[in-house]
Order: sequence, then structure tokens, then C-alpha cells
Amino acid sequence: MKKIYIDAGHGGADSGAVGVGGVKESEINLAAAKLLKTELLRQGFTVQMSRENDCNKTLAERSREANAFGADVVVSVHANAYSDASASGTETYVYKKGYNAEKIATQVQKNLVEALGTKNRGVKEGNLAILRDTDAPAVLCELAFATNKEDCAKLTNAAYRKKAAVAICKGICAYLGVNYQAEPKPITFLDQEAIPAWAKEAVEKVTDKGLMAGDAEGTFRPNDPVTRAELAVVLARLEML
Ligand SMILES: [Zn+2]
Repeated sequence: MKKIYIDAGHGGADSGAVGVGGVKESEINLAAAKLLKTELLRQGFTVQMSRENDCNKTLAERSREANAFGADVVVSVHANAYSDASASGTETYVYKKGYNAEKIATQVQKNLVEALGTKNRGVKEGNLAILRDTDAPAVLCELAFATNKEDCAKLTNAAYRKKAAVAICKGICAYLGVNYQAEPKPITFLDQEAIPAWAKEAVEKVTDKGLMAGDAEGTFRPNDPVTRAELAVVLARLEML
């Protein structure tokens, strides 16, 4: 399976930018990067993170790690800042345009802007260590501006961070030609207490994929027998997936 190296920008003594209300960029980056890890793992990718807590790590260490890991894609997660608080929006950096990194960046940028509803500042070139010193195609996402009131509200909101993670993951999937697998929706049957623990995940999967459904009363009736006709319908749906 493909290997993805996630770099949660800054950390430790280097907090990165300081946003509206004193929020640290390093915290925003780490929270979004962890959600991205969850997304990427669900797709079956092998994932390594530059940090999973608030620790120091040099740029050289990050690049060395990504290279030693043998990453197929490197993605660095950041939030932007500017002296003028009106600056806002999302941008994605590559070292040089015209290579695979630009293909990834184009997909990631498109998905991020759609998901976050931010201003599209486009794909840009940047002479940044994590982009320049890594062997794999590498992109650096500036999710939004921590110094802009509206953008920062999104950066500090868990639901928006998740949207950002999903968007980056979708972009990477599109580049690698992998079908994005969304998080299964939780079971909401009236009798979900009756579904045994060992079957819960399977029930979530088959209902999420539309292979089986509950009945009109909103129950699943896990202990009811399946008729041959019902089984035939499930198998026919499976073939259509
Ligand atoms: Zn940064």
C-alpha cells in the first residue's frame, strides 16, 4: 500500500503563527493532521506523522524521516498568517510546478476550497525545506489564515478541521487513483441495542453501502431470518457496487 508522510507544521518552542485570540498555529496543524491520519488509515494507506504531540522537530529531521520511511506522498499541514487581518483564503505550495506534486496540489487545493468555503488563492511555488528536501512529491497546505477572523473561526472548529482532513485525503486519493472511503455513518436503528457487539461494524458497513436496510419502523431486527428472496436482493446489490 502507498505510504503517506504527514508533517504537522511547527511544534514545541516553534508555535508558528499566532492567530486571532492567541491561538497557536502548531495546535491547529496538529489537530488537523491527526484527523488526516485517521482519514488516510481508513483508505488503507500506511501513514507516518512528523509529530503526534507538541514537540520540537527540525525541518531537516522531518525531511530525513519522510525519505527513510519511503513516502510516496508527503503532505505538510499549516495555517497562514499576515500582518493585514483582511488577508484570507487557502493556498497549496509545491517546490516546482510541472511535476507530480502539482497534480496532488491541484486536487488537494480544489477539495479544500470546496470543503472550507474559503477564498481560492491557488497552487503556488515555494522554496520550502519540506517540499525541496523530500524525495517524494510533496505539498504544503496553508488551510486558511489564522490571522483572519472568519478563517480562524474555521481553523479552531473541530468540524471544519475534519472537513479539511477529508478534503486533503480526497485530493491524495484522486492523485493515486483510489476511491475515497467515507467514514461509515453510526447505526441509528430503534433496536440497535439488540444488535450484538460482534455484528455492529458489519451492520454499519452493509447499511452504509446500501446493501441492507432497516424496515419501515426504523428497526433492524438482527435476529429475524433472511428469506431467499431478500438474500438475492442483497447479493444483486453487492454485484452493482
Ligand atoms: Zn506554518
